[in-house]
Amino acid sequence: MQSPSDKPQPALPAAGGGQASPRPSTTYWLLAMVAAMAVAVSATLWWTLRQTHALAQPYQQNDLWYVSSVHNELARVSLLARKMRAREATAPDLQERLDVLFSTLDTSGRGPRVSTQLRDALPEAAQDLDNLRPLVERWSTQLSAAGGHNGSKAAAVVADIIRQSDALLDRQRKVVATVHLFSAQQTHQARQQLYNRFIVLSTVLGGLLVGTALLIGKLVRDARTARAASRQLVLANRQLEVRVASRTRKIEEGRALLSFILNTSPSDVVLAEVDSGRVHFINRQLTERLQLKAPPQTLFLPDLLHDTETRERFAQALDRYGQVDAMEALIGEHNPSWSSLSARLIEVEGQLAHLLWGFDISAHKALETQLRELATRDALSGLLNRRAFMERSTALFDHCRRHDQPCAVLMIDIDHFKRINDRHGHQTGDVAIRACAEAIGQALRDADLLGRLGGEEFAALLPHSTADSALVVAERIRDAMAQMHLVSPQGQPLALTISIGVAEMAPQHAGIEPLLVDADQALYRAKATGRNKVLAYEAAIRQP
Ligand code: GH3
Ligand code: MG
Ligand code: MG
Repeated sequence: MQSPSDKPQPALPAAGGGQASPRPSTTYWLLAMVAAMAVAVSATLWWTLRQTHALAQPYQQNDLWYVSSVHNELARVSLLARKMRAREATAPDLQERLDVLFSTLDTSGRGPRVSTQLRDALPEAAQDLDNLRPLVERWSTQLSAAGGHNGSKAAAVVADIIRQSDALLDRQRKVVATVHLFSAQQTHQARQQLYNRFIVLSTVLGGLLVGTALLIGKLVRDARTARAASRQLVLANRQLEVRVASRTRKIEEGRALLSFILNTSPSDVVLAEVDSGRVHFINRQLTERLQLKAPPQTLFLPDLLHDTETRERFAQALDRYGQVDAMEALIGEHNPSWSSLSARLIEVEGQLAHLLWGFDISAHKALETQLRELATRDALSGLLNRRAFMERSTALFDHCRRHDQPCAVLMIDIDHFKRINDRHGHQTGDVAIRACAEAIGQALRDADLLGRLGGEEFAALLPHSTADSALVVAERIRDAMAQMHLVSPQGQPLALTISIGVAEMAPQHAGIEPLLVDADQALYRAKATGRNKVLAYEAAIRQP
């Protein structure tokens, strides 16, 4: 079942309260517009500055100033010349005035003081101004040559000055008027151009202001949207953190519970990687049972199984069926114990793993072994019963034959046992049978097989023994029996003798049974010829 917090949450609203997310292209367009406007404003300002600069240095004003300065000084020279003619001024005064006029003229040598425009409009006036300098120099030189007296030479110079300066002054007045006129025209034109450029500048500035306002508005809105989105994101992150923490806690609780269950389980539980066999988890039950000291990460699944045969059997079952069901196997390296193992292929956190669990069946196996042992034993004597003796003696017989080794059998029967039963009771007969079995067993080697075939009849298989050596053993047994002093419950002595038939394995014996038949035949002859005796088959068949 899904917990409420596990339910899928509705998708978070888009940042900015569901508004469309801000489009960066609008901002870029506005930025481009503002940049273009700024460039346009700069260009127009530069253009206007050039215009004002041109207006600030009006060459027409220079012309006007120059022409009027020259005109004024020339007028003064003319006035002083008239005064000199009227003897109201002296030659040095005029000389001084001429020097002032000369200094007013363009003598700097840094280019013409008269503008090209003036030269184009009034070439004669410009020529007058250019010619004035040599003229003033000449007047000054002539006046100096006159020696500073108001003589005839000086009078001639004065007359020349008055005559030429009047004509020059007249033309210069016209120049001043003309320069005034086109200066006014050009100023009007420049003002008009300046006005037009201010209109353009105002328009571009207005555009710049609008663009900047729009951009600022857009940036403010974007900032608000970003803040709102950031708040939403923080909120969403907190919600996510809470959900992740809750989910993590649940997973950890689930893991802890699972670990608790698996660790307290009476079964053995192991979780191992499929490819490498590396053990991820091993529960406490199995760790204690195997007395493991190594941490689980150094363990591999095959290491838990006792021997190579068990490992191969387990791996084959997994390969063939993909799982294992109740396989009885020995687990543990040093103190192996029986376990019933089952395994399944499962997926853990996206990786394939083998989940293996098992039950301790050591007690069951011990009981089974005990039962199997009991099934092979004769209850009265503790010797092998007939079936077990026949099974094992067959195997031993085959082994001797395979390895070309001799072997011999003894058929042993208590003499007149019926009488013991009859005289002393069945229980005393049982005691006699047990005593007989023990005596025979003590006379044999560990490698020999001894069984009670039935009643008071025993058989022994002696591997690696010939008939002769078996006869020696048989005699020893017969002698031991004869020497045994058994007494009845009533205290009467029990005389117990046995007869033994001996036969050695020969090529004609296809198995243990024909060999036993030969030994039985020898026993029969031993009985028939007096009992309490040992007789070999070879000797028995030679007897009449
Ligand atoms: P023989 O010398 O010819 O062997 O004579 P026998 O009396 O020993 O031979 P027989 O086969 O006639 O007698 C065997 C007797 O053994 C008969 C039977 O009652 C007795 N007997 C068989 N099994 C047991 C047993 O488990 N306990 C006791 N007490 N007697 C048994
Ligand atoms: Mg007997
Ligand atoms: Mg018998």
